[in-house]
Amino acid sequence: MSGATRVSCPVDLDAPGKRLGHLRVPFSSNRSAYGWIGVPIGVIRGGEGPTVYLGGGNHGDEYEGPITLLRLFHELEPDRVRGRLVFLPMTNLPAVLAGQRCSPIDGANLNRMFVGDPGLDHEPTKAIAHFVEEFLLPRCDAAIDLHSGGRTLDYLPSALARTGPEDPLRAPKLAALRAFGAPVSYLVPPIGNDTGFLAAADRKGVLALGTELGGAGTVTPATLAVARRGVLGFLAHLGVLEGGPEPGPTRLVEVRAEHYLYAPRAGLFEPAVVQGEEVVAGQTAGWLHDPDEPERAPLELRFAAGGLVLCRRPIPLVERGDCLFHLGADVAG
Ligand SMILES: [Zn+2]
Repeated sequence: MSGATRVSCPVDLDAPGKRLGHLRVPFSSNRSAYGWIGVPIGVIRGGEGPTVYLGGGNHGDEYEGPITLLRLFHELEPDRVRGRLVFLPMTNLPAVLAGQRCSPIDGANLNRMFVGDPGLDHEPTKAIAHFVEEFLLPRCDAAIDLHSGGRTLDYLPSALARTGPEDPLRAPKLAALRAFGAPVSYLVPPIGNDTGFLAAADRKGVLALGTELGGAGTVTPATLAVARRGVLGFLAHLGVLEGGPEPGPTRLVEVRAEHYLYAPRAGLFEPAVVQGEEVVAGQTAGWLHDPDEPERAPLELRFAAGGLVLCRRPIPLVERGDCLFHLGADVAG
């Protein structure tokens, strides 16, 4: 499926200069029969050079992206830009305004909606994903989509690339991760029927990175500093900005299926480790207490593999199937 976009873009993306406006995503509701959702879009076009997509707010409870991109949009002027920057700081605006991962309007997770479908009038999230993939990404040479863990996960500040041995963009992605310079860079293997932003960028041949900069539904000066330094480093690496910060050292890891630990039942989770620790296969990850049957002994949970603890669930109340931790394992880069 592809079809014409249902989203209109009143902002001229081609003329030199700096502009901000709103995409119009149609949404007919009880409150507004012919209404649309205005998703902010900014463009800064200077001299000749590549076009770079800068996205945040794909998930509405992840704040490093929106804050960093809004700040950079205000700071950067066209005379500093060799090429074009396209800003979508709050890509799924209804989710950002609700402080939720998914849109409160259609319940959809934008980063699972890159399915090539322009959507119907009650599916604004699908319409946004389709517009990004079919209208914006084909105009871009490179892209970054800034995520963090949201309310239910907390990450060691990381940048990531979707890549495997067959990926023609593997080497440029690894170079871009080094230029971003997050404390950790991790690689996720491509999977079939992948409906995320990075898969959409791969389909369009666009060099793209993601990030997981922090989380727990909050934001800190430290994670914002990683985000800012990383975006400026990425843009300097691409030649869009002059100078840029020196890349910091980054630790390259990969994340595989056995690196995830899920709750086997509901309960209160007592963690034994936090992000940044090294663990070995079989090591205790924590214990699950049963508030309904407190006479039951706590259930000890162990890691199936070893590695660096990249991410943990900061909320102790869990249900069966909740992700509690994930790890990364060192790779030669
Ligand atoms: Zn996210």
